[in-house]
Amino acid sequence: MSVPTITLNSGHEIPQLGFGVFKVDPEQTERIVTDALEAGYRHIDTAAIYGNEAGVGAAIEKSGIPRDELFITTKLWNSDQGTQSAFDAIDLSLEKLGLEYVDLYLIHWPTAQRDLYLESWLALEQIAADGKSRSIGVSNFQVPHLEKVLAGGSVVPAVNQIELHPAFQQRPIREFAAGHGIHIEAWGPLGQGKYDLFGETALTAAAEAHGKSPAQVAIRWHLQNGIIVFPKSNSAERIAQNFDVFDFELSADELAAIDALDAGKRVGANPDEVN
Ligand code: NAD
Repeated sequence: MSVPTITLNSGHEIPQLGFGVFKVDPEQTERIVTDALEAGYRHIDTAAIYGNEAGVGAAIEKSGIPRDELFITTKLWNSDQGTQSAFDAIDLSLEKLGLEYVDLYLIHWPTAQRDLYLESWLALEQIAADGKSRSIGVSNFQVPHLEKVLAGGSVVPAVNQIELHPAFQQRPIREFAAGHGIHIEAWGPLGQGKYDLFGETALTAAAEAHGKSPAQVAIRWHLQNGIIVFPKSNSAERIAQNFDVFDFELSADELAAIDALDAGKRVGANPDEVN
């Protein structure tokens, strides 16, 4: 079973399916990431604010997996936006992860009222030039934030990591990103368990037809839409289940039935209100 990769605009490849560690207890992170690596994941999505980079790093070190087989993302937290503060933040993240570089470094939120995100983006360009991150991107950016970075920067973000799940499909941002060579990463791909996604007929019917779970169907919907996805779970069984999604394919009708669930329903924060 091999995970498809997507070539980012930086020329580097990212495994399309990874493992996210938001709200994974720092004390449990080494064990849980070890479970994920054992299940076959090679792409891990963390962030400075999650407080668990050290646990991710410990699991990587213990695994003995060659560095070039792994894809590690971390993120610049809001209070570290700026130039020198971003340089300091990546150094601290690398130290906690025990790595010489990350594969992807993201601005976590635009925090547009503070208006530091373009300056921070230019700092990320330098971080990439210094070899501390192979690719750089943004997270939670709305179209105007992307436009400002495209106009003022010299590197196009490799990705925009945004809330995206069947009830909140973000079509305008996806279209804008596609037009600029920016790949979309979904956060909260399973709706963070905050609504009854797995009870929707579009998912249960496809799950039954393929002998899979509704969660696996949701992950497949992301993958077949070209979205990079890294569902989170603390349970070894679900971690393995969420990776076991490469032996079936949703039909055009099954995809369309899930597309029809779009309800403009956020489960997380509105980026325009995070400052
Ligand atoms: P998610 O949509 O992946 O939901 C996780 C929840 O879904 C779990 O807690 C569990 O309750 C449930 N679940 C997982 N697998 C299941 C299965 N097989 N069957 C039934 N239920 C299952 O939510 P998330 O963790 O918020 O998002 C994924 C990742 O995205 C995060 O871990 C993090 O890396 C990233 N993220 C980024 C941001 C951002 O601002 N950039 C915000 C939130 C999350």
